[in-house]
Amino acid sequence: MQRLIPVDSEADILPEYRGTPIGDLLAYHNLGRPFETYTKAALLIGMCMDHRKHLHIPDQFAYIIRTGGANLRYSEFKVSYAIAVGGVRSIALIGHSNCGMVNLMSKKDAFIDGLVEHAGWDREWAGEHFNQFAPMFEIGNEIDFVLIEARRLRMRYPMISVAPLHYLVEDNRIYQITEG
Ligand SMILES: [Zn+2]
Repeated sequence: MQRLIPVDSEADILPEYRGTPIGDLLAYHNLGRPFETYTKAALLIGMCMDHRKHLHIPDQFAYIIRTGGANLRYSEFKVSYAIAVGGVRSIALIGHSNCGMVNLMSKKDAFIDGLVEHAGWDREWAGEHFNQFAPMFEIGNEIDFVLIEARRLRMRYPMISVAPLHYLVEDNRIYQITEG
């Protein structure tokens, strides 16, 4: 938890994020800053598909790509679109505590049983589906993953700011992550 920096006031926002759409996101969500009016997106947010998270942000503020574990490796065309056509210059990558994409192997039986019982899948087919995709979507650790993913995105899109962030489902707040 030492790597997480809380945002409980404007002064807690890291200098590199202040006055940027990342700082605005933190202020809207954590600090209840009054919403400004947007006519175009200021930000691309990559966050997990998990049902326990809801962002408090203005209309038209952000493109949002939701994936397992905030993993954007397989959403690159959509990232490129948000930058090239949507005009965003910043990406907020928001991982979260207790993410289902950590330790997927422990969920293998539930995954297979669930597809067989609730989706009508053949058991063998469900097992192959899990084995094929689990290694692609496993994130290992929620905080380490967004740090690695932020580094990858910075190399891929060198003129874009990428901020690795962490959402604690226990208090519904977004935390900054120390890097380096
Ligand atoms: Zn998740």
